[in-house]
Amino acid sequence: MKLTVLGSGTAISGPDKSAAGFALQLPNETIVIDLGFGCFKNLQKVGIDYTKVNKLFFTHFEHIDHVNDLTAFLFAKKVSIFSKLSNPTQVDVFGGPGFEDFIKKLLTAYPVLKNPLFKLNVSELDSFASKKFTNFSLITKPMVHESSSTAFRFEADNKSIVFAGDTAQNENLVELSKGADLMIAECNHAEKETPNHLNAMQFARIASRAKVNTVMLTHIDPQDEDKDFKLMVSKDFKGEILLAKDLMQVNV
Ligand SMILES: [Zn+2]
Ligand SMILES: [Zn+2]
Repeated sequence: MKLTVLGSGTAISGPDKSAAGFALQLPNETIVIDLGFGCFKNLQKVGIDYTKVNKLFFTHFEHIDHVNDLTAFLFAKKVSIFSKLSNPTQVDVFGGPGFEDFIKKLLTAYPVLKNPLFKLNVSELDSFASKKFTNFSLITKPMVHESSSTAFRFEADNKSIVFAGDTAQNENLVELSKGADLMIAECNHAEKETPNHLNAMQFARIASRAKVNTVMLTHIDPQDEDKDFKLMVSKDFKGEILLAKDLMQVNV
């Protein structure tokens, strides 16, 4: 599996970072996990053909920094088919509780996205569930952040990657990440404790208890960007530590 960071930022990351998003290239298809602002442009920057991306997963939809380039993506799909640059297809979008209603409202706000040119399939994933797809399998667990917050564990080719999205510390993330090759989670703060985000110490404890191989920290608050997150996490976690950067690519 090849992971690309489409956006390593937050809602307020400034001009040099896109908001949250990732692409995961599997042997036979590429999927997207979150698509915040700037991420659709970065998807194209790394040479991924968006007309062939047909599965998108959202860790939560309440926060714009994780979801708002979905509209850009769907509109581009429609125009590319209309312009005969690509063929009609089916697009599957997945999210946590309330996602179907969210998409319904999005299509009401943007009727141009109600699309006869391709089929838009909307699914709400059951938390604590697992699902087999043709090219990978997926396990999901609810996180502590917003009511739709769901973390994903993708498995393919005997490798596993966990996407926590935004979350406060919780046992589900330890459970979901057990023995994973890579755990990607937000680390919004260096030290500050909040009810809906992680700090470096909490991040490290989860990674260490889950015995993951490698971690990637993302979604760092710009106010804490000058802090030494690697050093703080390494106090409790002894595996490899990566700091997410836009356009960074990692083979898992
Ligand atoms: Zn966020
Ligand atoms: Zn959020």
